[in-house]
Amino acid sequence: MGQIDGKVALVTGGASGIGRATALTLAREGAAVMVTDLNRAGAEAVAAEIAAAGGKAQALQQDTTDEARWQAVVKATEAAFGKLDVLVNNAGIAIAGPIETFSLTDWQKQQAVNVDGVFLGVKHAIPAMRRAGGGSIVNLSSIAGLRGNRTGLGAYSATKGAVRLFTKTAALECAKDKIRVNSVHPGIIETPIWDAILPGGEERRNAGDLNVRARAAVPTGVLGQPQDIANGILFLASDQSSYMSGSELVIDAGITAG
Ligand code: NAD
Repeated sequence: MGQIDGKVALVTGGASGIGRATALTLAREGAAVMVTDLNRAGAEAVAAEIAAAGGKAQALQQDTTDEARWQAVVKATEAAFGKLDVLVNNAGIAIAGPIETFSLTDWQKQQAVNVDGVFLGVKHAIPAMRRAGGGSIVNLSSIAGLRGNRTGLGAYSATKGAVRLFTKTAALECAKDKIRVNSVHPGIIETPIWDAILPGGEERRNAGDLNVRARAAVPTGVLGQPQDIANGILFLASDQSSYMSGSELVIDAGITAG
């Protein structure tokens, strides 16, 4: 028996990294999963992987900054699987650079995906979850949403701090509808998002630069994997966390403990 048998989940940014691991994990634990991403082929590949393992999934192309698309995606999820119990607002980007030379265009793009996208997801999940009798929303923040950093992530940090407090306010507003809203704060996790942060991109990530960064920043010296975060998201999605709302689940092997 799975931990979330019979639930219906929607995972944004499900084609890669943490979103992919989350979609696979929720499906393995019994949920029907709608996998969405800007990257249609990537989302379809994850849905196919779930189906091949005997799980239930469908894929849709979605830009989370597009409000009309959110309405269509929620409607399509209800049509495909009958309801919506779990939303994982995972889609996100990181644009790095010093504040002094950072363009307003990049600032606004960073805000659009990481903040507008999460707002729109919560907004359009509420009526669907009310119809389902309640639900669980998990918003991906970051340890960058808990404290400042020296690595040119000012714009990114601003979005993740916004997600943290928006989550708490949404939790208060949605309590009457039995909808729980929590945020997850990953540390340094090995995914392609780092290609846009590390100078030298994918090549540097593959050359092990992320391991060097992890050895310096993580008390255990160990780089996190997408599954480490998917495990926490599964807990927040499941009824095991039924007394948790407005909480922040930090999964960083102790980076922010000091
Ligand atoms: P990733 O780059 O591997 O995956 C992000 C996915 O989001 C991609 O598939 C991408 O196509 C999709 N996406 C981007 N913009 C989108 C949009 N507008 N609409 C729909 N999909 C879109 O990154 P990841 O590391 O798995 O990141 C997932 C989440 O976790 C992000 O919110 C990120 O900020 C957060 N996070 C990651 C880390 C880390 O170290 N990897 C740390 C803290 C927080």
